[in-house]
Amino acid sequence: MSERTKPLPDETGRTPRPAPRKVIPIAQEAEGTPLFEARRKIQPRSIAGRFARWRWALVWLTQLFFYGVPWLQIHGRQALLFDLEQRRFYIFGWLLYPQDFIYLAVLLIVSALALFLFTTVAGRLWCGFSCPQTVYTEIFMWVERRLEGDRSARLRLDASGWGLEKLARRGGKHALWLLIALWTGLSFVGYFVPIRSLLPEVLAFTGPWQIFWVLFYALATYGNAGFLREQVCKHMCPYARFQSAMFDRDTLIVTYDAARGEARGPRPKGLDHRAQGLGECIDCTLCVQVCPAGIDIRDGLQYECIGCGLCIDACNSVMDRMHYPRGLIRLSTQNGMARGWRQGELVRRILRPRVLVYGAALAAISTAMAASLALRTPLKLDVVRDRSTLSRIVGGGQIENIYRIQIGNATERDQRYTLSAAGIEGLRVASDTEVEVGAAQDRWVVVRLQAPYGAAQPGSHGVEITAAAVGEAGLVQQAHTTFLVPR
Ligand code: SF4
Ligand code: SF4
Repeated sequence: MSERTKPLPDETGRTPRPAPRKVIPIAQEAEGTPLFEARRKIQPRSIAGRFARWRWALVWLTQLFFYGVPWLQIHGRQALLFDLEQRRFYIFGWLLYPQDFIYLAVLLIVSALALFLFTTVAGRLWCGFSCPQTVYTEIFMWVERRLEGDRSARLRLDASGWGLEKLARRGGKHALWLLIALWTGLSFVGYFVPIRSLLPEVLAFTGPWQIFWVLFYALATYGNAGFLREQVCKHMCPYARFQSAMFDRDTLIVTYDAARGEARGPRPKGLDHRAQGLGECIDCTLCVQVCPAGIDIRDGLQYECIGCGLCIDACNSVMDRMHYPRGLIRLSTQNGMARGWRQGELVRRILRPRVLVYGAALAAISTAMAASLALRTPLKLDVVRDRSTLSRIVGGGQIENIYRIQIGNATERDQRYTLSAAGIEGLRVASDTEVEVGAAQDRWVVVRLQAPYGAAQPGSHGVEITAAAVGEAGLVQQAHTTFLVPR
């Protein structure tokens, strides 16, 4: 006798279906009923599979980077540090100043273009796998599962009254969530304040601003990953809203093959379901139970879907048990579903005009930025005229102008620079011609330029001041300024 397939177990033994949305009549709204739908708490069921493994791989990858990088040192200094107080950015051996803001702006453009490119090709890859909201929610849900059990145990715990066990489980969960959130806050602030001094400061309750920002970010992590979860994606994230503009009919999305799945319904295992007029969906709702967004992908593409693929893992496990081919829910495209394309055709459609434009722009801007960074001279020179002494005639019949110059040594070594000037015949540096600047330091110096009387007509003349590192050929920077000759 064939075994009758039951809907996959839930805590009550019944087939759980998503709760129907409550429709509020307009008349009721007028009487003061809230205008928005009350939130249904989602308790996703855990599932194993290819997409679940990818999600965890991305959790490890992103978090090893995020938590680990602030502790890395290069040349005895934090490898990645955006030191806002000193206005210096240390990026893996590069030292950038606020004047190099252009690189940060270009980096943001490159990141945005990369996001557009990947979204156009593969839909919500970022949302489902790498977004901090997804990653921390996954970590927090892992803690929740360890302490409160999987979906049905958690639903039972939700429904039960407060007792010692519930108190211990809930308390332990929140204590661990808070620890993770605090460490996350500390790591985040550690990208802006040297983390090796930040940790003792925070532990000793000194440095009120540092503590404020650690707590602020910790609270945001605790609230977003512990409580708000899918609400952040649905209602707070702007990217979730505008990314549909990047979708086209060839973008990969998570889809339910309705032609294959319908008519849905339970059936005995091994039954010739076609003969009974049934499709391959056994209506077990496992795909709904695992969904972190709490939606039913069988209702079609929905903006709440973050493309995590867990429903694919869930449905594939059901298909395996039923001895049906996998892929009732799968990654495909709207064109692919409508025209029954196979994987080869889907891959060929990746190289379409929109993708090529994004790809070309991304490659061009990334190459230009890399070349500019590689050719950049790690020496800054800024010249400011001394406004109090515009121009004067000094001993020896020389005309003198005074300047303040800032020399920024963007190398990791102490440097000695020689100063020279050109632009008027006989123009020379009359103050010290050598200046020492420590590694990754700035120094302001006063420079006096003198030119022989009569070497130039009265008025303003453009001149160049040059700083050249001693013993480092090519480490030279010039700055343009004006030299005033009095009447
Ligand atoms: S689509 Fe798959 S997982 Fe979802 S209800 Fe149907 S058979 Fe179950
Ligand atoms: S419908 Fe599927 S892919 Fe979309 S969020 Fe839910 S589980 Fe993830």
